[in-house]
Amino acid sequence: MSELSSGLSQFIGGRHVPSASGETFPDLNPATGGEVGRVPRGNAEDVERAVAAAEAAGPEWAARAPADRARLLDAVAERIEGRLESLARLESLDTGKPVSLAQAIDIPRAAANFRFFAGAVRHDETGCHTTPGVLNYTLRRPLGVVGLITPWNLPLYLLTWKTAPALAMGNTVVAKPSELTPLTAQALAEILDEVGVPPGVFNVVHGYGAEVGQALVEHPRLKAISFTGGTLTGARVAATAAPQFKKLSLELGGKNPTLVFADCDLERALAGTARAGFTNQGQVCLCGSRVFVEQSIYREFVDGLVARVGAMKVGPPDAIDTQLGSLISQAHREKVEGYIALAREEGGTVLTGGARPTLPPPYDQGAFLLPTVIEGLDPGCRTVQEEIFGPVVTVHPFRDEAEALALANGVQYGLSASVWTGDLSRAHRVSAELETGMVWVNTWLLRDLRVPFGGIKNSGVGREGGRHSLEFFSEARNVCIQL
Ligand code: NAP
Repeated sequence: MSELSSGLSQFIGGRHVPSASGETFPDLNPATGGEVGRVPRGNAEDVERAVAAAEAAGPEWAARAPADRARLLDAVAERIEGRLESLARLESLDTGKPVSLAQAIDIPRAAANFRFFAGAVRHDETGCHTTPGVLNYTLRRPLGVVGLITPWNLPLYLLTWKTAPALAMGNTVVAKPSELTPLTAQALAEILDEVGVPPGVFNVVHGYGAEVGQALVEHPRLKAISFTGGTLTGARVAATAAPQFKKLSLELGGKNPTLVFADCDLERALAGTARAGFTNQGQVCLCGSRVFVEQSIYREFVDGLVARVGAMKVGPPDAIDTQLGSLISQAHREKVEGYIALAREEGGTVLTGGARPTLPPPYDQGAFLLPTVIEGLDPGCRTVQEEIFGPVVTVHPFRDEAEALALANGVQYGLSASVWTGDLSRAHRVSAELETGMVWVNTWLLRDLRVPFGGIKNSGVGREGGRHSLEFFSEARNVCIQL
């Protein structure tokens, strides 16, 4: 916590303040069970104060030239990079993820988000439509105050993914991070303040989803909600926000397929499937948790996968050789273990994992779980249909391309898929038929920040990334002039 200059507090109108109620709750390190700090327990009053501060800051911020806002976003990116190690430690303290992972992925991506949207808004263009005697052009106006609600799995990565385009387009922000991961949101508030983002432009209200999150979504003067989280919560957010005609972006859960065809490069497919299944302890919305393998290579592939997964090092988040850290909480580990028990009841065989590792104190109090591979399950059973969001992958054989597609598409979710094949025609064919917002071929989670990011079916509504984010965080106005 020495990495934070202010300690945990609400950040409203440029000031670090306690919650309106004065109440707090503990922030726990899931890798040890130890208390990291006390989180201010916000409520509707804190939200009201933050919205008022954001409204007051709005006109001046919106009136700045995009290049001026972009300059500040670049400065934020630089500060994040300068604090790489301390931010990675904070992220690991809150989530239990390996520090090395936060250093390699979470924090660099947070900096990249700011840098990318600084560039994007500098180069932004709007449309112009002419006919003889008539000129139409499009103005893009900021929305006003926007609410950003983010989950615990990639706390700073996802908060910055929303904050950077919202600020770039001239909006002011009230952010509500997950109650489980407040630390890096607090650090981000400090950084924005340090580089000179004016008071009230970025506000953070910590607290529980049902109290702060709900109050934010209900707030009548908030113009938009950008939400990333579970599908059930997203449905609730949508039900509250829709009658108020708020703009809404929903990035929700996934149960993503990995399709492995016999003509693939086996070693690359094995490495990619293991990475897709278990990065961040399987707690990435894009994780490939259903692995479908062509019958002719099924045994060889599954044996190779089990060998790789069984050799993965689960251990203290700050150990240099740790590949998997702790899950987010004891409660979440119990939920994931419940699914492993369910898988056994549903006829599955655990090929590796399925148990807790033995670790020395204080990590024996942590929420660790061995990476788990399960086979023999009917694709329609609950274990294969429901999002587990932990280090659990199920493997299934398929006969041909048509069956592979039917299995891949046979869930309520539609976020992402990865396809492993050496046949270019097949890659195009299968990509066109997969019911997902994103398809990776011979790779997984290779990101270009310009491309549309988002899901279909129960995985969400709307797209983030590049111009999609800039459009979401602004309102297009047509101006038509009779010349
Ligand atoms: P969650 O329980 O849905 O929570 C997400 C956020 O919503 C948290 O900040 C939460 O606050 C808040 N919240 C809870 N109830 C709310 C309410 N009634 N109104 C407004 N906000 C409310 O999800 P999670 O467990 O943190 O994250 C895991 C889920 O996120 C998984 O399903 C995963 O697939 C999904 N996810 C999706 C993407 C994507 O891009 N599609 C990316 C990452 C994660 P509290 O934490 O304080 O309850």
